[in-house]
Amino acid sequence: MNAEELYQEIILRHLREPQNKRDCPTCLQRQHEHNPVCGDDVLLMIKLADGRIEDIYFLGQGCAISQASASMLTQIIKDKTIEEAWQLAKKMRELMDGQSSDSALGELQALGSVTKYPTRIKCVLLPWQALQKILLPLRHNA
Ligand code: ZN
Repeated sequence: MNAEELYQEIILRHLREPQNKRDCPTCLQRQHEHNPVCGDDVLLMIKLADGRIEDIYFLGQGCAISQASASMLTQIIKDKTIEEAWQLAKKMRELMDGQSSDSALGELQALGSVTKYPTRIKCVLLPWQALQKILLPLRHNA
């Protein structure tokens, strides 16, 4: 299996079995993002405890890339501190800007293969944009 096939397999796995995809009424931090280009919707929901992301869920619909990205995001961000989560979002943005990938991103590196299709970069970053909007005011209060 070459890298390209492996990356596709990771993305397909998250599509078949999305992680943490359900409503979370106790998650007070909620952010919805919409991508008009392919009609992607992502609602990101976070519950904080002691400066950590205790729970993180999403709901959404749209293209495979946006939904797989949201599923992967919830998996890697759970239990991270606000600052750790912020740094991962930054690394994700750098990856999609075509900068070198960081091993801290784990499976998320699979989404870097999308940079060949510039219109899909927005799809990958949609849930990360929601995360950054939630984290930004929290960071400044910390
Ligand atoms: Zn999309």
